[in-house]
Amino acid sequence: MFLLEVNNLSLSFTQYQRGLKQKNIQVISDLSLSIQEGEILAVVGSSGSGKSLLAHAILGILPKNASLSGRLYYGGQELTAKRQKELRGKEIAFIPQSVNFLDPLMQIGQQVRTSSQVGSEKGIAKGKGGEKEKDRDRDREKGRVKDRAKDKGREKQRKIFDRYELDYDVENYYPFQISGGMARRVLVASAVVGGPKLIIADEPTPGLHHEVVKEALGHLRELADEGTAIMLITHDIATALEVADRIAVFYAGTIVEIAWASEFTDHGDKLRHPYTKALWMALPQNGFLPILGRQPSPSEPPPGCLFQPRCSLSSKSSSTNNSSCSQEAPVMRELRSGKVRCHFAT
Ligand code: SF4
Repeated sequence: MFLLEVNNLSLSFTQYQRGLKQKNIQVISDLSLSIQEGEILAVVGSSGSGKSLLAHAILGILPKNASLSGRLYYGGQELTAKRQKELRGKEIAFIPQSVNFLDPLMQIGQQVRTSSQVGSEKGIAKGKGGEKEKDRDRDREKGRVKDRAKDKGREKQRKIFDRYELDYDVENYYPFQISGGMARRVLVASAVVGGPKLIIADEPTPGLHHEVVKEALGHLRELADEGTAIMLITHDIATALEVADRIAVFYAGTIVEIAWASEFTDHGDKLRHPYTKALWMALPQNGFLPILGRQPSPSEPPPGCLFQPRCSLSSKSSSTNNSSCSQEAPVMRELRSGKVRCHFAT
């Protein structure tokens, strides 16, 4: 059974233009994918193409002007807004793109402990319904419980610090006092300290030195090998291939192929979709072959297949095939233990 299933997800935003005129902007259309425990599924697509919004839809943190359709399932049950709220930051953790997600006014140790939900002073202090204690002995006992919870929280945080090679001194630092690489480790530490089952990592290695990237990805692989499901959102297919089990290729607001990472070899003959092959062949080690044309906006898709204006397979096909490509939008289908959205992929 899959831990997370996203079925036919579409997302659009309503924007006001001049006066009271409204415009509907489509950003995701009919997107489906699933993730199992212990695997890394990389969602790969160009920067600014709306991949992060997929993460936000799963986490339930979209802005109010968003309209969502389709279904999300987590652990076999529908992932409703109520469940998203309950699971967010606990079973479902988020590693954001920017280190600006760290609170600039809170010490690092406190931030990680807050994420762990263990030893939360708020939770302990409230007790059962926050009833007022008048009895001194009970107050003292309450203080002791609070201290024990604090110690437990600190112990858990230090264990995570050990794991990610963060000195205990860092506990007392503020975000501006640590390096970019260290801040990334703190973000990972904050995400994993509560023992999540699913981690959504949104471009977790932007602009970092290769060694730091390797280290950050190594942490994700380690977590997956321990059973955590990971959705890695990235624009960098080469990086994704270093750690992912499967690659979901995002194009113009939807997924056009889901392939095994092991299928990205040689000239991409095992890959199914012409865009995936083109992405693979555009890597420097494969000849740097450019992909001509531009990705369409999901709000203004071309008729038929989204990739048709750039597709080499369509232009090589017979005129009948070619007209199917420009008239009918292909649906996602199973092919050779993967999935593809193309009429003619074999
Ligand atoms: S459906 Fe046609 S245009 Fe689209 S990817 Fe397949 S061959 Fe190319």
